[in-house]
Parts: sequence; C-alpha cells; structure tokens
Amino acid sequence: MATWHEKAAALKPDGRAFIGGERVWAKSEQQFENLSPIDGRKLGMVARCDSVDVDIAVAAARAAFEDGRWSGKSPAQRKRVLIKFADLMQNYGQELALLETLDMGKPIKYSQAVDVGGAANCIRWYGEAIDKIYDEIAPTPANSLALITREPVGVVAAIVPWNYPMLMASWKIAPALAAGNSVVLKPSEKSPLTALRLAEIALEAGVPPGVFNVLPGYGAEAGAALALHMDVDCIGFTGSTRVGKQIMQMAGQSNLKRAWTELGGKSANIVCADCPDLDAAVEAAIGSIFFNQGESCNAPSRLFVEASIKDRFIEKALAKVPDYAPGDPLDSNTVMGAIVDATQLKTVMGYIESGHVDGARLLAGGKQVRTETGGYYVEPTVFDQVNSSMTIAREEIFGPVLSVLSFTDVQDAVRQANDTPYGLHAAVWTADLSKAIQTSRALRAGTVHVNQYDGDDITVPFGGYKQSGNGRDKSLHAFDKYTELKTTWIQVG
Ligand code: NAD
Repeated sequence: MATWHEKAAALKPDGRAFIGGERVWAKSEQQFENLSPIDGRKLGMVARCDSVDVDIAVAAARAAFEDGRWSGKSPAQRKRVLIKFADLMQNYGQELALLETLDMGKPIKYSQAVDVGGAANCIRWYGEAIDKIYDEIAPTPANSLALITREPVGVVAAIVPWNYPMLMASWKIAPALAAGNSVVLKPSEKSPLTALRLAEIALEAGVPPGVFNVLPGYGAEAGAALALHMDVDCIGFTGSTRVGKQIMQMAGQSNLKRAWTELGGKSANIVCADCPDLDAAVEAAIGSIFFNQGESCNAPSRLFVEASIKDRFIEKALAKVPDYAPGDPLDSNTVMGAIVDATQLKTVMGYIESGHVDGARLLAGGKQVRTETGGYYVEPTVFDQVNSSMTIAREEIFGPVLSVLSFTDVQDAVRQANDTPYGLHAAVWTADLSKAIQTSRALRAGTVHVNQYDGDDITVPFGGYKQSGNGRDKSLHAFDKYTELKTTWIQVG
C-alpha cells in the first residue's frame, strides 16, 4: 500500500475557482502560489479571485436561487442530496485528508478523523434534520390564521479561516444549503484546496450548478468584495476579531446584509484545589492547548491553577509536554504538525519573545524546530508566572503556547477569567457541584466545560460572547442565521 508521502507526491491539486458548476481561473488570470507548511513545497497555483469573479459567482448563486433549482426542492429532496454529499466526502476521505494536511500542516490522523469525519457528519446531520423541522401557527383570534414560516435568506456568502478549513466551511454551508440557500464560499488563501474539492463533490452528489460556488482569493480582494456586495443577503464569517469588525462595518456600509461572526478566543481553564481528577485535568489542559498546533479558537490558552496545588499540577503537566513534540504531519503517529505558514510562525515566535520580555518564566519549549524540513514547527511551549496584564495572557496567540496563572479563591479566578475582550469557551474543575454551577453561570463565555474540556458535538451550539462574535454555528440554532421568519396573516370567514 502506498505511504502518505507517496500519495502526496502523486496528488495534483486543482487551484481553479468553482463557479456555476465549473472550474475556472480568475477573469484577471491572476494566480498565487500555494506552499505547503510541512516542507515549503509548492503545491500548485491558485486562482486569485477579485470583485469581478465575486460579481459572476453572486450572479450565478442568485440565478440558481431565483429559479428554484435548489431553493424550490422539497426538504426531503435536499436531504437526499446532502446525505449523498456526506457519503461521497467519506468515499474521498483519504484525498480530502491529504489535501488538508498538505495545505495547513495538521497531522494526517486528525485530518482524517476530525476534519473529514467531522465535516461529513455535519453535512449529513443538517441533511437529516431539514425534513423534520415544522413551522408554527400563532395563537391568534379565531377570525384569522397567522403562519410563522422560515424561508431561506437567499444568497449566503461564507468566509472561513485556515485552522479547520473543511470543518469551518461545513458549519456554514451545511445549514445554509439545507435551508435552501445558494452559497458563495471564500476559503482562506492559506488553505483553499479542500473547499474547492468539496464544491466538485457537492455537484457530483446532485447539488445543482450555481448553488454552491467557491472563490479562492485574498481577504482584502475577494473577501471584501463579498462583504460589500449589494446582492449578498447574508454573510457567515469565521476568523479573527479584527476582520470580524470590518465585516460588520462592510455589511452596514452596503446593503445591511445579515452578518454573523465566529471570532477569536482567549479561553480560561480554571482548576480548583478540589478538582476531582487531577490527572484528567492535566491531560485536558495540555492536550487541548497543543491540539491542532494550538491553532484552535477555543484552545484553553490561559490555565488558572489554585495556588495550593499549582506546583503539583505543573510537575504533572510538564511530564506530558514531550508527547506533543512536533513531527512529520504525514506520519500517522504524529500528534503535532506544522504551523500554517511563515507569517503565523513569526507571530507565534513574537509572542514567545514577548513572554520573555514581560518576565514570564519559560518552563518548556519556546523554540522553532525541524527547520531542516523547510517547514514551520514550534515546540509545545509553557510559560509560568504569567499575570493578566501580560500580552501572552491578553492576546490570542493561535499557536502552541500555554500561559499558567494562579488564583487564591474561585471569585478571584472568575474575575481574572472574565478580564478579556473575548468570551468563547471556559472551563472549571471542581468536585463541589454548587461551585461548579455558580462558576459556570459567572463565566462570560458561549461554552463552559465542567470537569472536562473536550465536549464537542454537532448537536450543541458553538459561538461566543463579547468580541468572540455573534450568532451560533452547529445545532438547529444555526438555521437562525440562514433563514428569515415570515408571518402570513390569513383572514378566516
Ligand atoms: P482572518 O480574520 O485573518 O481571516 C479569516 C478569513 O477572512 C480568511 O478567509 C481571510 O481571507 C478573510 N479576510 C481577511 N481580511 C478580510 C477582509 N478585509 N474582508 C473580508 N475577508 C477578509 O483569520 P485567520 O487567521 O484565517 O483565522 C484565525 C482566526 O479565526 C482566529 O482569530 C480564530 O480564533 C478564529 N476562529 C474562530 C472560530 C470560531 O468558531 N469562533 C473558529 C475558527 C477560527
């Protein structure tokens, strides 16, 4: 059987856009190079789409929406196509996983299990859900009937980041397509390959041409053109808080399209002295910050440990850190891969430097490694003696860097945990049920974990308080983003 390296050598990724059911280059014929963070190898050229291509793709999406080739299909018909789409994704699973790993550097075993598995599950789940949702009749007086129905919003633009390219795309396109919308997806310029392949697979499954379009390109070009477009009805954005703010402004500046944002995080993980299982807490603290090279929006990057158990906790944690040494992402045993590109590597190394300058104490890692590969790898890094005013405790690093802070009582922990502009995830570890509930209520975050950090399921909403965004991905609540509520009054008698 061919190794992952042999399969990678044989792969010829297609970087053309996907508009109206066809692979096309940008009208300008501009392209950009796609380099793999694993070893710096050139994977190919990608279409550099701009506002001209956005106009064409939005027109294709609009035409498809208006003529009802998808929006007019019954929920049961859309369900059948989406389930086939999910099945095909799994049939092409090895190819999709390989593209994801080559494009953004994550270990192949996670590309297969988490990214392909999670994305296919997401498409299937929304497909299965759509013919089981009923509309409402309001309790109005007997001489009238008021129907409250949900309708697709129309043309949805989805703009997604590079950390889970296929998964983040699926969280948008699955509910949007299931509800009957047409979609124009812009993947990150750092990881466009799986999104482009998904569009082909959707077509093969029976999603009609024009209903699902993918435009690779830069944020300031293709992304901004979508956010400013007068004929896009809704934008689903996942990315940084900085760009999320621009998206909201562009929506307001143009046609007031509905703008939904899933943004950055600086999640707090609070371990109290009465933690019921210290080993599980250590495993979760270390495993969750170093998973996906620390490039996860909900990574618990601030670890608060109660002062009385801190030394013991740190000793146990440091014993686990070597398990996350970066390795070859195409080796099935590797658990930590490459940082997505040279720019992100520089950002992460800059934060490590700022930790030193601010006086935090480096306990593990801190260096770039595997430079001989030509790729971008950073050791799993732990800083102790961090305080809430340091840059590494305030800003999202989006790399394998853990900041350890301490607290004296749980009120102090909550105050420090909430002292951030973000509000994505948080966790508390305690054996005291009342303390767990009071702390979960006091933490200003979209998701709070109690005595675990890995709770994750398509059935639950995902999103943030404060500057971590608005609206929710996943679960049936995601339909709120991609549908309009219509009230229809009918005179009776
Ligand atoms: P980013 O904001 O730089 O880019 C995200 C997307 O926006 C990319 O496709 C990019 O091309 C596009 N973009 C950039 N500038 C734009 C502009 N002016 N107009 C329109 N589009 C523009 O973020 P990133 O570096 O790709 O991703 C990392 C960020 O994503 C982190 O902050 C992370 O926390 C966040 N994230 C959040 C979630 C969540 O669910 N809350 C999930 C994953 C990632």
